[in-house]
Amino acid sequence: MRAWETNVRRVVPYVPGDQPKGDHLIKLNTNENPYPPAPGVCRALREMEADRFRKYPDPSSASLVRVLAERYDVDEDQVFVGVGSDDVIAMAFLTFFNSDRPILFPDISYSFYRVWADLFRVPYETSALDEAFRIRTEDYERPNGGIIFPNPNAPTGLLLPLEDVEEIIRRNPDVVVIVDEAYIDFAGGMSALELTRKYDNLLVVQTFSKSRSMAGIRIGYAIGNASLIRALNDVKYSFNSYTMNMPSQILGVEAVKDEAYFRETVARIVETREWAKGELRKLGFSFPDSSSNFIFASHEQFPAEKLFEDLRKEQIYVRYFKQPRLDHYLRITIGTREEMEALFAFLKVYPG
Ligand code: PMP
Repeated sequence: MRAWETNVRRVVPYVPGDQPKGDHLIKLNTNENPYPPAPGVCRALREMEADRFRKYPDPSSASLVRVLAERYDVDEDQVFVGVGSDDVIAMAFLTFFNSDRPILFPDISYSFYRVWADLFRVPYETSALDEAFRIRTEDYERPNGGIIFPNPNAPTGLLLPLEDVEEIIRRNPDVVVIVDEAYIDFAGGMSALELTRKYDNLLVVQTFSKSRSMAGIRIGYAIGNASLIRALNDVKYSFNSYTMNMPSQILGVEAVKDEAYFRETVARIVETREWAKGELRKLGFSFPDSSSNFIFASHEQFPAEKLFEDLRKEQIYVRYFKQPRLDHYLRITIGTREEMEALFAFLKVYPG
């Protein structure tokens, strides 16, 4: 073996969900929003002048930072933006997780955390969720180099009550605790954002990919104490100054401006989710009580992998994880009412 071959950084990459092509498929596999982005986003996209692209974008994404600071009632120096929350979290790993002690996260959570830990050579330990897929706060009381967990959790959809989130932050004042709130807008006002006023070790990460219908545009952000944000920006500027492109910055601002549309579409998804829970129960499925835009459901009679494949033959895509403890479940994104009706029409006659 030549030296370069031994010196290659080898990682097992994160595997994103399929992005199948076609006009008539029902795509409930990657937790995207079934509604279009806000009308102002669509208008700004139509009116965008390509000549502007000759120039570099604003490296600080100042206009987007400004509207986010206003929206969340924090100072501008408390907001960091990145290319999706994946980029924000990757930067946060690089910035904050540099201890010899292991970082902690739940064994069942966003599978990208392990990949970043491996990539950046951060030692980690996972804590098992309990039988009902709940995070046990006492598992986060041992010595550690940092903590990250999604809330609501993925792929379970379960929300950790805010007092438990606070307990974890309070008991770990010497490390950064990252709460990954990719799905929090579907959880009815349970964000840990307000706790950033009280705890300087808390970083809350959110995204435009789910509740703002902009997964394809790639915008994520973190809110926390100004010194955390400064450290994040120092690392970002040491990596790539121009992470966020100009169209994303412009379209992101438009999305934040339309609060009414945001509220309306989120409410619609929550309403469809609650109705879908009832339908799934009637069909004999069981699932943790979701506070997100997906339901993690299993059925005693239908092996999940077979059902996943049978659904795919019908052009209905859901997500299946071939892993211990998860392989009896399907993660079903909440689509439009019509899409969910098509899913239930299939399930009602299954295995027909
Ligand atoms: N965190 C969690 C828990 C997620 O499920 C996802 C979506 N795959 C992300 C972060 C990343 O989302 P994005 O990069 O699109 O903001």
